[in-house]
Amino acid sequence: MTAKISPENVLQPRSVEQVVAGRPTSDGAGVKLTRVFAQDLQRRLDPFLLLDAFGSDKADDYIAGFPDHPHRGFETVTYMIAGRMLHKDSAGNQGLLENGGVQWMTAGRGVIHSEIPQQEEGVMEGFQLWLNLPASTKMSAPWYRDFRNHELPQFVTEQNAQVTVIAGQSHGVAGAVTRDTTEPIYLDVRLPAGATFEQAVPPGHNVFVYVYRGELSIGNKGVPQQRMALFANNGQADGVRVEATADSRFLLLAGKPLNEPIVQYGPFVMNSQQEIHQAISDFREGRLAATEP
Ligand code: FE
Repeated sequence: MTAKISPENVLQPRSVEQVVAGRPTSDGAGVKLTRVFAQDLQRRLDPFLLLDAFGSDKADDYIAGFPDHPHRGFETVTYMIAGRMLHKDSAGNQGLLENGGVQWMTAGRGVIHSEIPQQEEGVMEGFQLWLNLPASTKMSAPWYRDFRNHELPQFVTEQNAQVTVIAGQSHGVAGAVTRDTTEPIYLDVRLPAGATFEQAVPPGHNVFVYVYRGELSIGNKGVPQQRMALFANNGQADGVRVEATADSRFLLLAGKPLNEPIVQYGPFVMNSQQEIHQAISDFREGRLAATEP
């Protein structure tokens, strides 16, 4: 889908506060991945809780997948660049996620799901983002949708940036998903060497980019491949401006902070220790993913 676009007109771009490398780890039944950020930055990047990047052409790095595990209190957004992964959950949803597709799952009061690769060779590459829910909807009913690549709104700018709008709005194009409280913007951008891309972002929202191909320059600061650049919340700055110094691909994420307490225990993210204890006992006693609260 190609839409007609209007420029973003950023007059005063934000500067880069920090460039973050992430760290290699493994999760699920032994899937190798890069944890770009988690607890260390989740207060700073509120409402975002975690970003994992996975990418390998070695089956041993991904084949075991993520067998049944619970979530409560937030949303997971999985974006598959390459590969095939089958999702099944306790709410009765099932979906095959493949090349360029997105799965958006609101765990709410509880989901138990599995994410299992459907390939025994070839490249598996993608991202999982965790987006927090406000206290008022942490115990809401689970919600799930998957979008094939052609169902995601896409557009091309005058500078030949190819943009996929997973959430929020960019250049007048509305994304696949909208959230009222956290107002997330989630873009995947392909930017040719020498081209510039701008995105308007309200002051006070937290913003970062993750470069997964090529290299960006942001206000003369180089941001190489596999690095996240976290933007400063500069007073009245009205957006971000990035330039590609090589043919590049990056994710751009922005969101409105919830400013609520964040208490995480593994796959549960709540507002208090007591709610975490409740989540653990609900899970142990089989109530976490019950269809009625
Ligand atoms: Fe999960």
